[in-house]
Amino acid sequence: MRHDEKLSPAGQLWAVRLHWANVVGGVNCRGPHDPDDNRSGLNVSYYVGDDAHRVAANRRRILQSMGAQDWPVVTAGQVHGSHVVTVHEDMQPGFDPSAAGMRSPQTDGLVTQQPHVVLNLMFADCVPILLYCAEPLTVGVLHAGWRGTAARIAEKGVGAMCALGAKPTAIHAVIGPAICGKCYEVGPEVLEALSLLPGPGKALLELPRNHVSLAEANRQLLLHCELPEEAIHTSQLCTRCGDVPMFSYRAAGGGTGLHGAFIALARDPH
Ligand SMILES: [Zn+2]
Repeated sequence: MRHDEKLSPAGQLWAVRLHWANVVGGVNCRGPHDPDDNRSGLNVSYYVGDDAHRVAANRRRILQSMGAQDWPVVTAGQVHGSHVVTVHEDMQPGFDPSAAGMRSPQTDGLVTQQPHVVLNLMFADCVPILLYCAEPLTVGVLHAGWRGTAARIAEKGVGAMCALGAKPTAIHAVIGPAICGKCYEVGPEVLEALSLLPGPGKALLELPRNHVSLAEANRQLLLHCELPEEAIHTSQLCTRCGDVPMFSYRAAGGGTGLHGAFIALARDPH
């Protein structure tokens, strides 16, 4: 199964596109942009100081490409935590309306079994994790920066899928584009937090001192949760040094646009 698309320099939307049965989505790329404007390109966030009309047009293009332009969208007030919310048919009363859709506050992971509901989280260097189980048909998306990784959001996301009837050995994962280990130099507090995770070896070793691969740390966590190795696909695209333009907080040196991870069940309920 192939998740990385070879992108031409202009006009493409996706850095990673999902090819799971009955699922639409992926992680969008930054696309053509003005290198002097940290928010230009396919920014999907209304909260980074970008023009709201431009954000709306970007989001519409992406949702149209999924065939999901008329489906409700659930986003999250991401706080680098490990809280994962299950989205039910009636949309929880705890959700707030926002320009991008219904927003679950203080949440870094969303899972659902509802068809035709788009789950959407936003990123600039942090790791997007997309989850899928065919039976029962369940999807999820997680936001894993170093704090979320250390708080084991990968494990909590798998747990939320399992609470809906999925088995870990039947869950597939895509670890999307994120800052690579070579580009991600960190302080001792990060190294210490990540060294407590299961199987940290490859995430911390084979890299220059004080560097860490958050993608590998999360892959190890998913393996620890008993996902089969062959069911985990890790994108090799770095948001900072990769050859497909993505938003990168580190590259921008601060305020930047965000790309999105989008996932929805496309199966008609009837
Ligand atoms: Zn890199």
